[in-house]
Amino acid sequence: MVDQRTISLEAEPEEVLLDRALRPQRLDHLIGQDRVRENLRILIEAAIGRNEALEHTMFYGPPGLGKPTLAHIIANEMRASIRVTAGPAIERAGDLAAILSNLREKEVLFIDEIHRLGKAIEEILYPAMEDFALDLVIGQGPGARTVRLSLPHFTVVGATTRLALLSAPLRTRFGAIYRLDFYDQPALEQIVERAARVLDVPMDDEGRAEIARRGRGTPRVALRLLRRVRDYAQVRGDGVITGESAGEALALLEIDGRGLDDLDRRVLRAIIEKFDGGPVGLDTIAASIGEAADTIMDVVEPYLLQLGFIDRTPRGRMATRLAYEHLGIPNHRHEQGTLF
Ligand code: ADP
Repeated sequence: MVDQRTISLEAEPEEVLLDRALRPQRLDHLIGQDRVRENLRILIEAAIGRNEALEHTMFYGPPGLGKPTLAHIIANEMRASIRVTAGPAIERAGDLAAILSNLREKEVLFIDEIHRLGKAIEEILYPAMEDFALDLVIGQGPGARTVRLSLPHFTVVGATTRLALLSAPLRTRFGAIYRLDFYDQPALEQIVERAARVLDVPMDDEGRAEIARRGRGTPRVALRLLRRVRDYAQVRGDGVITGESAGEALALLEIDGRGLDDLDRRVLRAIIEKFDGGPVGLDTIAASIGEAADTIMDVVEPYLLQLGFIDRTPRGRMATRLAYEHLGIPNHRHEQGTLF
């Protein structure tokens, strides 16, 4: 389930089809995320060895890095089925009670955007995760009583872009918490290469490198750029993705050499031009360019931090020397050496 606010990353119909063909099904097929993969392998093998359900597991990180993909891989490796839901989809306590009471032994319950679960819902989840029990209130008023129903041993796999928003009691119920990092260039190149083969588009090494370089370290973005570059090569060229045709197509889409898009640049420019390089609060930046603060926090900021284009300080965000250089804006503060 995709949050409305991350609209620029939402799935297109072709993306859904491609996704089915491409989504790695087993740990061995997962490209990148080496640290997470090796940790998961141990967790899974240990659980299988003891013939137990996997411990509750949480993935966090920016959108598009493969959180649901990993949840499906876990279910496949555990030879278990998976039920998929999302924090905002569970509105009433009864919704969750219905899901929980239908779970099977070792089944994976994937909860996307788990930080958006309501407080009352979380309260039901605690005993379910810890004691595999569901407390049902029967009747009303003074005659009401609680009946405890035991549940099969199942596994919650949670995903969030905002670990900080997760309540402490919920967080402690997870036996394993993994951060997903942006993918490095070789991993993204492999993902793009595999996708090009599935799409049956001819592509040379430079074309592949160009798309991966501008893919924001994010498989979903790189795969989308691949499809747009394919369109361009088909319409304006001979259908082959080369370094040149990829470069031209991406320039037309206003994706620059480091993968920044229009929104990324607007955020950077706002910090530099309107707030003299910062420090400035995220809400102020968002208001000044008319964008949702959540989008900036979830989608824009992690990548700019990764590139070293902004710094997060207690007083707000600051543009770094690298950001000025990238945008070609003269930087008097840094030249005088007053701040850095
Ligand atoms: P998230 O919830 O973190 O946004 P998804 O699991 O929906 O991530 O993945 C986003 C897209 O990227 C999907 O199309 C998925 O197939 C692809 N993807 C993610 N991780 C990988 C990977 N390691 N290898 C290949 N494709 C991947």
